[in-house]
Amino acid sequence: MKIKADYVNAPQWKEMIVKSRLPEELKCLGEIAHNLWWVWNYEARDLFRDLDPELYHDVKHNPVMLLERLSFSRKEEIVKDKALMKRIKDVYKMFRAYVDVKPDAKRPSVAYFSMEYGMHSALKIYSGGLGMLAGDYLKEASDSNVDMCAIGFLYRFGYFTQSLSMDGQQIANYEAQNFTSLPIERQLDENGQPMVVDVPYMNYTVHAYIWRVNVGRIKLYLLDTDNDMNSEYDKPITHSLYGGDWENRLKQEILLGIGGVLTLKKLGIKKDIYHCNEGHAALCNLQRLCDYIEEGLTFNQAMELVRASGLYTVHTPVPAGHDYFDEGLFGKYMGGYPQKLGISWDEFIGMGRTNPDDHGEKFCMSTFACNTCQEVNGVSMLHGWVSQKMFAGIWNGYYPEENHVGYVTNGVHFPTWCATEWRRVYAKYFDTKHMSDQSNEEIWHGIYNCPDEEIWETRMALKNKLFDYIKEQFRDTWLKNQGDPSRVVALLDKMNPNALVIGFCRRFATYKRAHLLFMDEARLSKIVNDPEHPVIFLFAGKAHPADGAGQGLIKRIYEISQRPEFLGKIIFLEDYDFLLARRLVSGVDIWMNTPTRPLEASGTSGEKAEMNGVVNLSVKDGWWLEGYREGAGWALTEKRTYQTQGYQDRLDAATIYGLLENEIIPLYYNKNKKGISEGWVKVIKNSIALIAPHYTMKRQLDDYYDKFYVKEAKRFKEISKNNNQLAKDIAQWKETVAERWDSINVVSAEWNIPSTGLETGQEYTLRYVIDEQGLEDAVGLEKVNVFVNKEGEERIYSIEPLKMVGREGNNFVFEAKLAPHQAGAYKCSVRMYPKNKNLPHRQDFCYVKWLELPQM
Ligand SMILES: *Cc1c(COP(=O)(O)O)cnc(C)c1O
Repeated sequence: MKIKADYVNAPQWKEMIVKSRLPEELKCLGEIAHNLWWVWNYEARDLFRDLDPELYHDVKHNPVMLLERLSFSRKEEIVKDKALMKRIKDVYKMFRAYVDVKPDAKRPSVAYFSMEYGMHSALKIYSGGLGMLAGDYLKEASDSNVDMCAIGFLYRFGYFTQSLSMDGQQIANYEAQNFTSLPIERQLDENGQPMVVDVPYMNYTVHAYIWRVNVGRIKLYLLDTDNDMNSEYDKPITHSLYGGDWENRLKQEILLGIGGVLTLKKLGIKKDIYHCNEGHAALCNLQRLCDYIEEGLTFNQAMELVRASGLYTVHTPVPAGHDYFDEGLFGKYMGGYPQKLGISWDEFIGMGRTNPDDHGEKFCMSTFACNTCQEVNGVSMLHGWVSQKMFAGIWNGYYPEENHVGYVTNGVHFPTWCATEWRRVYAKYFDTKHMSDQSNEEIWHGIYNCPDEEIWETRMALKNKLFDYIKEQFRDTWLKNQGDPSRVVALLDKMNPNALVIGFCRRFATYKRAHLLFMDEARLSKIVNDPEHPVIFLFAGKAHPADGAGQGLIKRIYEISQRPEFLGKIIFLEDYDFLLARRLVSGVDIWMNTPTRPLEASGTSGEKAEMNGVVNLSVKDGWWLEGYREGAGWALTEKRTYQTQGYQDRLDAATIYGLLENEIIPLYYNKNKKGISEGWVKVIKNSIALIAPHYTMKRQLDDYYDKFYVKEAKRFKEISKNNNQLAKDIAQWKETVAERWDSINVVSAEWNIPSTGLETGQEYTLRYVIDEQGLEDAVGLEKVNVFVNKEGEERIYSIEPLKMVGREGNNFVFEAKLAPHQAGAYKCSVRMYPKNKNLPHRQDFCYVKWLELPQM
C-alpha cells in the first residue's frame, strides 16, 4: 500500500480546570477577598498589593483574581515570610472583628433595589453616578451597622469600557465577565445546589441564578439570567446595563422588581422598608401587592400596607428621563396581573399614568412608583423642588409646593473616597470619634490645627501619585494611538505636577456642558500657556453609546487636545471608572462642574473632592447650591440671565475665564518663601472644615432614617398590628368616602365680608354648613390664597383652615374668623378634602373638591 503523507485522527479533548488552591495558612485571604470590605480598608488593600505588586496592577486590583493567579512559588514564599504572615493575621483579625458584629435591631430594616451598584472597577455593574451612589450607600449601611440587604443584577457584559480611536471617536468595548474571578459568591440552596429564582413572564417562567456580594456586613443579591434554563430571548435580560430595546428594559424591570421580591421570599428575608432607587425597581410593589392579596387581603387593603412600607427616590430631573412603556408592550407581559389584583386592566395601567383616564398615555414606571410608595424624595434641596413640580400632575388639587415629595441630598462614602494620605492627616488632627461621628462639623475643624506645610505636602503627594498613575496607565495606548512618539514624549514632559491642575470628569451628557471651557479658544490658550503660571485641564468620562451629541463632545475635546498649543495642557483620559475616579478626585487641585441648572440632580464627584482637599469650581446646582461656602471654593451664580442657552453658555464661559484669570490662578501661585500658597491652603482648610462634614454617606444614610424610614416603619407597625386591623379600617373608610364624595354637598356658605371691602386688622367670618352624607366628621375645609409669581405661575400665598365648630342636625358647621394683617391682592377659594388622622399626608388620599363661592 501507499503510505499516506498524512494520517491522523481527531483528538479527544478534555477540559481541565486547574483551580488555584490556597495553602491552609492563606485561606483567610480568600475569605477577605470575597468581601468588598477591602475596597474601603487600606490595610487590606495594601496587603493584597504587597503579595505581588506587579500582578496586583495586572489584575486591576481585584484580589480574587490576584489569589487565583498567584504563582505556587510566591505562595510558598509568603507562607515563609514572618512579617507578611503577621500582617495577614492582623488584617484578618480586623476583618472578623468588623463582620462579626450583629446588625442594630433598633433601627428599621431595609430592602434596597437598584439597577446598578458601583463599588469597585472589578465589579462592572455600574455606569456612573446612580450606581456609585447605591454602592456607597451599601458600604455606609455596613459601617453604620444597619439591617439592610439589596437586590441588583450581575451583568454578563456590564457597562462598556471606553477607548478612543485615533480621531477621538469613542469605542465601546463589551467584555464578558468570568463570574468565578469576581469578588462574589454563588448563593446555594439547602442542598448545596445553586439557588434559582423562578420569575413569571406572561405564560412562562424565567430562571435566574442568585449571586451574593458581601459588602462588609451587608448582602447584595445579584440576579443572573444568562444560563441554559432560559431561552435565547431571555438569557440576555441581564447581559448589559442600559443596553437593548424597550422590551428588554421591561423584562429587566420585571426581573428587578418582581424577581427581586421573589428572591427575598426564597431567602426567607422580610424587611420593614422597601426602597426603590430610581423608578426601575417599582414593580417590587406589584409583587408585594400580589403577596398580600394571596394572603387574603383586598386590593385596597394590600395597597395600604405596600404604600406604608415603600419609599421611592427619584434621580431624574426631567420627564423625558423616565421609563415609559406602550400599552401594547406592557400588556404583553403584564396582562395577567389585573386578575391577580382583582382590578380591571384600565385601573391597573392607570396606576402608571398621570391621568389614569387618558388612554393615550403610556405606562410610566416613576408614576407607578409615586402611586405605590407613601414617600417620594429627590436627591438635593433644589431637585426636591424640581421633583415636586415634575410630579405635580399626579396630585391634582394641590400645588407643587404642597405635595409630600421631599429630599435627601446625596453624599459619598468617606472611607472609600478619602485618600489614605488624608486619612492619616485626619487621624492626627481630628477627635478619635471622627469615623463614628462624621457629620459633626466641630471635629472637622481640627484641620485648622494642621500646619500649612503638611496640607501642601499631602496635596503634592497626591498630585504626583495621579500623574504617575496617568503616565503608567496611558503611555502605551498613547504611543499606540497617537502615531508620532515624539508628541507623546512632549505630552508626558508637560505633565508637571507643579502646575495648577483642574479636573472635569463625569458622564458626557450634553447638559453637563463640557464644551463651556472651549467657547473662546484663544483666551483658553493664553490661560494654559502662561509660562509662569501653567494650568492643566484633565477631562475624562463616557458618553452613552446612543448619545451622539455626547460622543461628539468627546471627539471635539480630543481634537483640541491634539493641537500644538493644547498638547499636554488639555488631556483626555480614557475609560473613567472607579479606580481612575479615585485618583482624580484626590489628585487635581480644582474640581470643575458646569451643568445647566437645574439638570444636575445632585452630583457627587465634587463631594469626593472636598474630603481630599480639592476645591470646587461649579455652577450652583445640585449639591453645590447647598454646599458652597464663601472662601471655600468658587461658584457660578444660580441666577439665569438669558433664556437663550447659547447666550447663557457664553456668559458662563466668560465668568469661568474671568475667575481663573483674576482670582484662582493668582491665588494658587501666590507662594511664600516655602513655596506654599497660604491663601490656597486657607481655601482647602475651609472646604474641609465647613463643607466636607455635610456630604458624607453617613449623613445621607442618617437622613433617610430620620426623614423616611423611621416614620414609615412606625406607621407600618401601627397599621399592620392585630392582623392588619388599622390598614383594613383605613381602606374601608377610604372606600366609603370615595363612594359618597360626589354627593357630599354644601348646604349653606357665607363669607361675611364688609361691604366696604377688607382692611388690615379687620375681622371677617367664613361659615360653611356641609352635608357629609352620613359620614362622621370626615372632611376638612380650608381657604386657599394664591398669588402669581414673577414667572407667571400660581403659588400658594397662605392657607387658612376652617374649624368644625358644631352640628346642625346631621350637618357639620365649619367656621373661620380671619383678620388679614398684610395689604395686597391675591386670589382665594375654599377646598374640601378627606380628613383622617391616620393618613400620612394629603396626597395619600388625594380627593379634593373646590367649593362654589357664595353669593356676595
Ligand atoms: C462619583 C462618580 C460618578 C458620579 O459623578 P457625578 O459628579 O455625579 O457626575 C460617575 N462615575 C464615577 C466612576 C464616579 O466615581
